[in-house]
Amino acid sequence: MFSKVLIANRGEIALRILRACKELGIQTVAVHSTADSNAMHVRLADESVCIGPPPAKDSYLNIPAIMAACEITGADAVHPGYGFLSENARFARILEEHKVTFIGPSSHHIEIMGDKITAKQTAKELGIPVVPGSEGEIKTPEEAIALARGMGYPVIVKATAGGGGRGMKVARDDEEMRIALFTARTEAKAAFGNDSVYIEKYLQKPRHIEVQLMGDGKGNAVHLGTRDCSLQRRHQKVLEEAPAPTVPMDQQLRIGEVCAAAMRKLKYSGAGTIEFLYEDGEFYFIEMNTRVQVEHPVTERITGVDIVYEQIRVASGETLSIKQENVNFYGHAIEVRINAEDPQTFAPSPGKITFYHPAGGVGVRVDSAVYQGYSIPPYYDSLIGKLIVYGRTREECLQRLRRAVDEFVVDGIKTTLPLFQRLIKEPDVIAGNYDIHWLEKFLAANKA
Ligand code: ADP
Repeated sequence: MFSKVLIANRGEIALRILRACKELGIQTVAVHSTADSNAMHVRLADESVCIGPPPAKDSYLNIPAIMAACEITGADAVHPGYGFLSENARFARILEEHKVTFIGPSSHHIEIMGDKITAKQTAKELGIPVVPGSEGEIKTPEEAIALARGMGYPVIVKATAGGGGRGMKVARDDEEMRIALFTARTEAKAAFGNDSVYIEKYLQKPRHIEVQLMGDGKGNAVHLGTRDCSLQRRHQKVLEEAPAPTVPMDQQLRIGEVCAAAMRKLKYSGAGTIEFLYEDGEFYFIEMNTRVQVEHPVTERITGVDIVYEQIRVASGETLSIKQENVNFYGHAIEVRINAEDPQTFAPSPGKITFYHPAGGVGVRVDSAVYQGYSIPPYYDSLIGKLIVYGRTREECLQRLRRAVDEFVVDGIKTTLPLFQRLIKEPDVIAGNYDIHWLEKFLAANKA
């Protein structure tokens, strides 16, 4: 086991990792920008190192500064969390070269899954169902149009290097196809420095369903069931639940097993998530994330597996402690993302928290790194906490969520808590009857 882990992240996930390390008896090193000197992860870590000024590119994405922090503190492993450097194959490789363990998959697996065309081809070869589309990169409008006509419109143009919903454009006819190809390319070039795009069938009313996976790099892998993350705004998840409420359990277990078998074949190590769109009873692979996800706690709640603890264990060379036959699913869990944003306009709302009272009680977990008197800096994403509730049934879970959201107080800044107060009264949300477009439509209809 490691003796000292450097946590290359901030906010709630830095704290989540820190807690797992403490429980494992591992020393922790926090790194932080000058804007985060008073952050909770810095206060609670055994040691901390300032790695640069506020902009993420100069601090949390600053590989030389993080490598220097490893050197100074003698950390033997780095946990990247999510976002920032978590899916950066180059960072993983540099750590490998410096004999510091990257708590995550091999740089090779990050690379395969980071390029969407390669990821899709790999998924297909591993027997995972994919969205119908082009075999690889699309070069000319003529090629795109011929393919789209063959598949039938609408189609979606997606950036090979895509992420965060950027570089995606929908086309409903030949004319739109020409425009979509051009704009997706331009956007991808600007965002990722790579203008390679591909096309796939545009699914009209799918749900976003994902499978949580865990492997040990020795050919052992398990799935920890599904999550439904269909409630999204601008392709960003807002509420997640486990298990997926509308997919029959036997089908969930089947897709889980297909994914776990794929991970065994790849000898995948660490936590990973395979994301699917689900429409008319069929799963279609869209991408794989090679890291821990924001919404991992709902899976932890219904399986009893500590995902971050397992990540650290397998990275240190231990065998997976879980066997598929011992993974059981209990009840239902829902997570809502509390963002420092205006609940109507979603404009960021950084600033000082003047009063803070998190929800508590039976079946409630709060993962957050804020405290009363803390000032949320304007430089990073707006997630300030996650409220995770559990119930023996989905109905009980929703009742508890209602109570917990009412109890939660964050004063001094605007948060998305009022949005959840509205959402949990909606008949479609109560019934679990929503697709990936539901929230945008709800927000548009409730603007006035
Ligand atoms: P990113 O990596 O940018 O997040 P994804 O491939 O994961 O991109 O897609 C993000 C979201 O875009 C999905 O959750 C879904 O809402 C939408 N999307 C992606 N591909 C399709 C498709 N073929 N049909 C319909 N919607 C899609």
